[in-house]
Amino acid sequence: MSWKLTKSELDNENLLVNESLFSLGNGYLGVRGNFEEGYNDEFKSIRGTYINAFHDETEITYGEKLYAFPEKQQKIVNIIDGQTIKIYIDEEVFSLFSGEVLAFERNLHLDKGFAERIIHWKSPKGKEVKLHFKRMVSFVTRELFVVDLKVEPISPIDEIKIISIINGDVENFVDPNDPRVASGHAKRLEVMDVQCKDHLSIIKNKTMNTKLEVACVSTSTIEAAAYSYERNQSDSCIEETYSVNGAVHFTKFNVYTDTFRHGNAIIEEAIAIQKELEGKRFLDLLQSQEIYLENFWKKSDVKINGDRALQKGLRFNTYQLLQSVGKDPHSNISAKGLSGEGYEGHYFWDTEIYIFPVFLMTNPEIAKNLLLHRYSLLDSARERASEMGHKKGALYPWRTITGPESSAFFPAGTAQYHISADIAYSYIQYYLVTKDEAFLKDYMAEVLFETARLWADTGHMLNDSFRIDDVTGPDEYTCVVNNNYYTNVMAKHNLLWAVKVYEFLKEKNAGALNELVNRLNVTEEEVVEWQLAGEKMYLPYDENLKINAQDDTFLNKQRWDLENTPEDKFPLLLNYHPLTLYRYQVLKQADTVLAHFLLEDEQDVATMKNSYDYYEEITTHDSSLSHCGYSIMASKLGYKDKAYDYFIETARLDLDNTHGNTKDGLHMANMGGTWLAIVYGFAGVRVKESGLSLAPSLPEQWNALEFTIQFQGRLIQVHMEKNTVRYLVVEGDGVEISHFGESVWLESEVEVTFEK
Ligand code: BGC
Repeated sequence: MSWKLTKSELDNENLLVNESLFSLGNGYLGVRGNFEEGYNDEFKSIRGTYINAFHDETEITYGEKLYAFPEKQQKIVNIIDGQTIKIYIDEEVFSLFSGEVLAFERNLHLDKGFAERIIHWKSPKGKEVKLHFKRMVSFVTRELFVVDLKVEPISPIDEIKIISIINGDVENFVDPNDPRVASGHAKRLEVMDVQCKDHLSIIKNKTMNTKLEVACVSTSTIEAAAYSYERNQSDSCIEETYSVNGAVHFTKFNVYTDTFRHGNAIIEEAIAIQKELEGKRFLDLLQSQEIYLENFWKKSDVKINGDRALQKGLRFNTYQLLQSVGKDPHSNISAKGLSGEGYEGHYFWDTEIYIFPVFLMTNPEIAKNLLLHRYSLLDSARERASEMGHKKGALYPWRTITGPESSAFFPAGTAQYHISADIAYSYIQYYLVTKDEAFLKDYMAEVLFETARLWADTGHMLNDSFRIDDVTGPDEYTCVVNNNYYTNVMAKHNLLWAVKVYEFLKEKNAGALNELVNRLNVTEEEVVEWQLAGEKMYLPYDENLKINAQDDTFLNKQRWDLENTPEDKFPLLLNYHPLTLYRYQVLKQADTVLAHFLLEDEQDVATMKNSYDYYEEITTHDSSLSHCGYSIMASKLGYKDKAYDYFIETARLDLDNTHGNTKDGLHMANMGGTWLAIVYGFAGVRVKESGLSLAPSLPEQWNALEFTIQFQGRLIQVHMEKNTVRYLVVEGDGVEISHFGESVWLESEVEVTFEK
């Protein structure tokens, strides 16, 4: 049961939310869970199909535009709609909003990779039919989206008409009142070509400004005793009509290609893919889908024994991450994945801190792709650094698709310099987990050197400590501050690792180092400077409270009165001017507490505990990125109940729409956070230079917890019960790990059990 998301009634109040929840994708292509036949006019729909990174650019209009404010913003584009199927039952149009819905069930199968609607419907004139819609975005053929429909007459019916539509006249969704959704520029695509060729329906579109092209080449099959067929085309649309007497089985195969991935001949490419698919039925495609997913779950499933609802939430979240994460070098994972247009398809630090670790520990090849994508943005990051007045280095944009900064609000955008250190952090984690020296030489060294340069150039020495002024940390309710603890400690890590990598290459591969330092013009003096800046990094600490201060002035501000803030004023960002928020001690999301998780050896446990107690009281968790950090640190500090409660918040955030905006797309970072709260939280996994360590503690509410992680070529299974923990190297050689600080050798395929 916990392998599927089920809705057994048509919930008109939540149509938009369900479009996100039932969205399908494969990292390249994403389709929202819209109804093929649509709704009636009363209900809004965000009808969407997206290709990861396929975007247009729009002008940013500022009232006052200052130097180096980005002029353009990238935006994911809603592409050609291949979802639509209209059905007529003896001239009456099928709609779940007319007649009588005698039965309705909707499922998303997380193990089989398809969604379905099973419907028993009575038309206003009393005709009865059963309909079964199935749809799938293939993990095996990334360009393919298939819809399969069976209609069975229950009462006497003369004619069933199926009208299948491909529509190139599409728009993006806009909402001028929500900063998290785009406010204008709905129309992003022009129709370039509409043609019918043999059994294929073909539409090609082009974006208005970036001039990227996308094609949809569609074909369909039908099984019915007898039918008539007709095809019509307009300037932007192709309609195929099948008229049938009796039961019918219809399948529509849509193949999408784009100029990013498929060169200029996108129609020919799509036709070639259609050719390869010829003769395959929905069932055949489903089989390969299942095999792909079997392999995925073998490495990625986390089994909770003792709570089905949470188990479902966890699997749902992991599955959605897989559906959205880019698997080619052109793409990353956007804040809403491929499930909606919220945050306009942009990639943020969400990737590195919340999502990357999930793939790193389960599917390192996907994690590697995320790093390669960031590597491909390095030139734009260098340009941005220069634009921002830095003499050297790379400043990664706060939000982007292909590299240019797309944030128009710099205090909570560009000023979040920490993203550059977050990216460096993910490279370091990748190296520690894989020990991939070739990767270190080819990519990691360059990213670390360029980001270290950024810090060296941004900060300055004062009173024998290195300080970083005027940046914003993760907490977006406190902006443009000096010495944000999170930023400083992450920059320190970045700087010292850049030195480490430099020394490592000097010793192991001087040739490669020479080539790199010559190309980048890195001098020995610079490396000394990085070392000094790292070692002397100022980390704010308050002697009275015995906590790390979030920044230089944070603790001097007034505390926001959260207790007496009315419920309807949350999230605060929608109800207060940013300046009002900046003047108070109030957090949108985990900041210092998150830094304590990522770099726990920088402080003693007592300090981290004090910080936790202090910041927790003033954190609103208005950002969905917040709960998991608090859950992980609660586990670390022994606050078992809090760890569990925060975990629950992450596990069901979208399923229960607790942030009220699931309609705009799923919260990908939070979805990663659910997995992190288990593996880094309850199981206490950490990966450091000293190796892999664990400190497992099962939540009291559960009977058992089991997961596997990848570490340096091994697959290690961890099984936790109330009083025991069992480790097993399922694949690969034996390995040394640390269990609550004690060194343990795990022989391959030999279970090691610890009693509490
Ligand atoms: C959060 C950011 C996050 C962004 C995209 C914002 O609400 O404050 O930390 O990167 O959403 O998910």
